[in-house]
Amino acid sequence: MDEALKKKLIEAMAGTVVAHADELTALDQAIGDGDHGLNMKRGFEAVLAETDTIVAKPLPDALKAIGTTLVMKVGGASGPLYGTLFMALGKELPPDPTIADVAQALAAAIEAVKARGKSDLGQKTMLDVLAPLQAALAAGGADLAARLPAVADEAAAATVPLKAIRGRASFLGERSIGHMDPGARSSALLATAICNAIG
Ligand code: ADP
Ligand code: MG
Ligand code: MG
Repeated sequence: MDEALKKKLIEAMAGTVVAHADELTALDQAIGDGDHGLNMKRGFEAVLAETDTIVAKPLPDALKAIGTTLVMKVGGASGPLYGTLFMALGKELPPDPTIADVAQALAAAIEAVKARGKSDLGQKTMLDVLAPLQAALAAGGADLAARLPAVADEAAAATVPLKAIRGRASFLGERSIGHMDPGARSSALLATAICNAIG
């Protein structure tokens, strides 16, 4: 992957996180401790500040560098989990991946997040957006970059009726029902930003 595209992707991810920080915080105020927007903004601003160093690396190393920065800067539960996601993608992907490579790498990265978070699908977390995205990538077909944002949005919306089983929202038990999971929303935002930058 060339440097210009890596730069475009980093700017797109950081841009959407900054633009939606207040929304992510509001979602986390409803069922968590109200810091998800700030956590993600801090993390992706740190990634953005390292853009030149990161884009000079081949894609696998660039992804690992992003993951390392997210672990250090995001904090909370989501920092290690997003960090794991990006580091696992870096471990799995070749320098110039095909869609099939991305589907395979995302499947492995989802397993890494599950292991790190001792979590699974249906527990009202970021995994509930990542897994449907992976399934759509694996199914393939035309216009993926145009279709995936809707997949991501629908998956995030589908966390609203779920009861949280992992993370702080699980402390609320039944009262977590009726709210969108903040991490599901941030995953959908990142996926949409990536699709828009590529497509
Ligand atoms: P914290 O809850 O520590 O304040 P954040 O607010 O930044 O961290 O992130 C919360 C998000 O992290 C949740 O909305 C959820 O999507 C995700 N999350 C929390 N715990 C887990 C877990 N064990 N597995 C997967 N995702 C999780
Ligand atoms: Mg929080
Ligand atoms: Mg917190």
